[in-house]
Amino acid sequence: MVLLSTGVRSNIDLLERSNLPFNKGALVDDNMMVAEDVYASGDIAEHHNVTYGIIPPAIEQGIAASKNMVMHGSSTYNGSIPTNTLKIAGFDFTSVGNVNSKEETEYEVIRAKSPLEGKYRKVVLKNNKVEGIIILGLKGEAVATNKLVNIHADVSSFKEKLSDINFSLKSILTSK
Ligand SMILES: Cc1cc2nc3c(=O)[nH]c(=O)nc-3n(C[C@H](O)[C@H](O)[C@H](O)COP(=O)(O)OP(=O)(O)OC[C@H]3O[C@@H](n4cnc5c(N)ncnc54)[C@H](O)[C@@H]3O)c2cc1C
Repeated sequence: MVLLSTGVRSNIDLLERSNLPFNKGALVDDNMMVAEDVYASGDIAEHHNVTYGIIPPAIEQGIAASKNMVMHGSSTYNGSIPTNTLKIAGFDFTSVGNVNSKEETEYEVIRAKSPLEGKYRKVVLKNNKVEGIIILGLKGEAVATNKLVNIHADVSSFKEKLSDINFSLKSILTSK
């Protein structure tokens, strides 16, 4: 199976007819402000060159934007860790964080798989800390996957085990 993810394109028709700054989306600062009295969040917002195109960042941005609309400067948005969970051809798939780093750089990638069982895991580390994880066919591991990326868990003592598909990510959390 080959899955092509071609990205998200914001509908910028309205922006093109405005005097507001935009690129892929409306350019927002860390207060989600585009221009005086104009705030943006969600698919239309471009924050530090990123338009996320998924719900969790849209909610986080919306919260920051609405607080700043009431009192400018009261909330700072520092970006989101992208998370996607879906079912592809019957397989549960979750992708969290930075999963596309080049292996020859400062990042380290540890893969585990069991093709016959339809299971796959890719863990991306930077200085032994978790930067991103992809899991396929490992539905029960989704919550642990999210947590490990969000806390940038140090997995120095689990690195050998990560290449074993039967090793559960949950056990890293319970050992801490
Ligand atoms: C098919 C599909 C599946 C998706 N599945 C997922 C998923 O599983 N998980 C996930 O996290 N994300 C998913 N997304 C992405 C998610 O839907 C968006 O990231 C999210 O809805 C963005 O929220 P938003 O408020 O920025 O925009 P929207 O939810 O698109 O809301 C924008 C609103 O503005 C209205 N609007 C547009 N133009 C105007 C105008 N000129 N005047 C007044 N109103 C206007 C629109 O009608 C709409 O109601 C999916 C998207 C698509 C298309």
